[in-house]
Amino acid sequence: MLRIGLTGGIGSGKSTVAGLLAARGAVVVDADRIAREVVEPGTPGLAQVVEAFGDGVLTADGALDRAALAAVVFSDPAARARLDGIVHPLVRARTAELVAAAPEGAVLVNDVPLLVETGQAGSYDLVLVVEADPEIRVRRLVGRGMSEEDARARIAAQASDEQRRAVADVVLDNSGSSEQLAGQVAGFWAEHVAPVAG
Ligand code: ADP
Repeated sequence: MLRIGLTGGIGSGKSTVAGLLAARGAVVVDADRIAREVVEPGTPGLAQVVEAFGDGVLTADGALDRAALAAVVFSDPAARARLDGIVHPLVRARTAELVAAAPEGAVLVNDVPLLVETGQAGSYDLVLVVEADPEIRVRRLVGRGMSEEDARARIAAQASDEQRRAVADVVLDNSGSSEQLAGQVAGFWAEHVAPVAG
């Protein structure tokens, strides 16, 4: 099995790259999706979050109220650490399950937006970073329905391009067209995946 850690700042094009890799046969494990699944209604994860932060972090229909929870942990590092202490082990366990279930010889792509911020670069055979000019990322995020202010704040809160580049084995530049990105993914596959995955 080849384990690829895929990361990049918000709006860089990670999900797009994950989709292109999946189309070539990679098994994609999406960290954000797992982080949502482990606190869905009825999960032990959600019960632990409510025990730690109270009913105020639930919506009227009993789902996690992400905005309320974000407000609680935003300016309180201890609360943030407590939340991470609940969610991160659950995400790790679920990720390990999905990795174990992947077929022998699979090309496994773990899409981890905060790979650098959470110090996980060492967990992969290869770290693939997607980059794009910050102004282009803002434009694409606004195109996806985010406010410009929110887009800029989120970009500023994440690791920098330099920090991501420092752990990257391969960097894809997604400041150009979708076709150019697809060409780079094809080149990445031919150079780094096909020779080891057959
Ligand atoms: P991320 O997962 O890193 O946040 P996405 O893959 O969701 O980024 O890309 C952000 C937005 O930009 C999406 O709406 C996506 O369709 C669009 N996008 C990605 N790459 C390109 C590109 N090369 N040209 C134009 N739009 C793009």
